Amino acid sequence: MDDLIPGLVGLAIIVGLFFLLRVIVLWYWQIDKITNALNSIDNRLRDVTSILSSVKDNTNNLPRTVNRICPNCKEQVDNDSKFCFKCGRLLDE
Ligand SMILES: [Zn+2]
Repeated sequence: MDDLIPGLVGLAIIVGLFFLLRVIVLWYWQIDKITNALNSIDNRLRDVTSILSSVKDNTNNLPRTVNRICPNCKEQVDNDSKFCFKCGRLLDE
């Protein structure tokens, strides 16, 4: 039992030092600020994604006017498109 106490004290000191060094490292490299910024970016991207998906749902309900063919890649494109959405070629008027 007497051999166990110094080991436990040493273990407690090591654990305490670990948490102390962890706080210092997180402060020095500004990990908490980076984490907050990444969370903010993540939330905004989720908002943008939901907005884009709702816009896509709305545009899918619109009647498409597909009766032109891209001369480069033969993809069907809308009448009012300036560029082919597949290959990016400028379409003639
Ligand atoms: Zn094309």
